[in-house]
Amino acid sequence: MSTLESSTNGDPQSEQLDALCDFLAAKADRLDQSGRWPAEQLRRCAQAGVFRWFLEERFGGWGWSEEQIARGYLRLSRACLTTTFIITQRSGACRRMADSQNTLVHEQYLPALASGDTFATVGISHLTTSRRHLARPVLLATETAGGFELSGYSPWVTGARHAQVVVLGATLDGGREVLLALPTDLPGVRVEPPERLVALAASRTGVVRLDGVRIDRRFLLAGPAANVMKQGGASTGSLQTSTLALGLADAAISFLEKEAGARTALRPPAAALRREWESRRNELLALAAGSPGAPSEAIRAQANSLVLRATQSALAAAKGSGFVAGHPAGRWCREALFFLVWSCPQPVMAAHLCEMAGLDA
Ligand SMILES: Cc1cc2nc3c(=O)[nH]c(=O)nc-3n(C[C@H](O)[C@H](O)[C@H](O)COP(=O)(O)OP(=O)(O)OC[C@H]3O[C@@H](n4cnc5c(N)ncnc54)[C@H](O)[C@@H]3O)c2cc1C
Repeated sequence: MSTLESSTNGDPQSEQLDALCDFLAAKADRLDQSGRWPAEQLRRCAQAGVFRWFLEERFGGWGWSEEQIARGYLRLSRACLTTTFIITQRSGACRRMADSQNTLVHEQYLPALASGDTFATVGISHLTTSRRHLARPVLLATETAGGFELSGYSPWVTGARHAQVVVLGATLDGGREVLLALPTDLPGVRVEPPERLVALAASRTGVVRLDGVRIDRRFLLAGPAANVMKQGGASTGSLQTSTLALGLADAAISFLEKEAGARTALRPPAAALRREWESRRNELLALAAGSPGAPSEAIRAQANSLVLRATQSALAAAKGSGFVAGHPAGRWCREALFFLVWSCPQPVMAAHLCEMAGLDA
């Protein structure tokens, strides 16, 4: 580990993180416009040791606490939501691998993931929030003598083309599920061109197809079991989604505050949004530190509501100029829509629909 990296080892407020966030923020509009994979941004994150936050020291990480990670994510997502979102999918894959008892997978992937030499992602939404209403699972696993055969597709996989390994969920006949560390170079794995997205296009998210892919049992991370996603690790509606929503809201409120310097009419709404943001941030950090508080799904609904209102306030203040492609206010509004659909469990979606319809939740 370089001395450059170790200088930020335990500090989500470090100057090195400041410099990284400045770099990410300066590139965010161009990234949004180009829709190209943020290779340079991710390289800088690796250099600053960001990928070490999420892993224990025995895997080459810094073993940051949930609270330190939340503080770090608040800063990164304020600067560039797309890059930060990609990091959440990457760190989700790392955590699932680290939480498993599979020492071969640990040795094969985790040190290179901690340093940033390898990229990993997740294809798990079809076990939680996607295609759940269909009669048949979209990705089936059949047990074979040496492992599993996979057929079907994973509907949403961020950065699959850039990943050496995808943490992938699949369903066995009878409903039990498995979680596997799928090497993307196995025969039969096909990464489709990414979807054209309303925002976060540079996340290069799309379908991964599996045509009779044979995978050895040594890549098994969890299961076969019912609800394999409930075994350890983050769940849908978890704090990280709310943290990223608050990071984006922070960017929008800061813009409003800056505009309010010269426009007094903007001061009361800017101040009210900032008060609400501070209170949500404090609740979230307290929960991340392990204090009892509102359930994470209630926090999520509040964070979503705030990010939608804050970004639209920034656009209203930016007026027509904010509606021109390349202005951050318009991008923030599109990015805020993502929180309505990202890993959004039923109660959170119901809370949004009630709020928008003016009904009591
Ligand atoms: C940009 C982006 C990046 C993502 N990255 C990842 C990733 O890296 N890894 C990952 O695992 N996931 C990822 N996701 C998935 C995400 O977390 C959610 O699972 C996903 O947004 C759910 O949307 P869906 O359209 O698949 O939902 P679905 O529930 O499958 O809905 C699809 C359509 O089915 C219909 N429908 C829905 N429910 C019903 C019902 N009950 N009855 C009848 N019809 C119904 C509706 O018309 C709906 O439009 C990503 C999503 C996005 C948008």
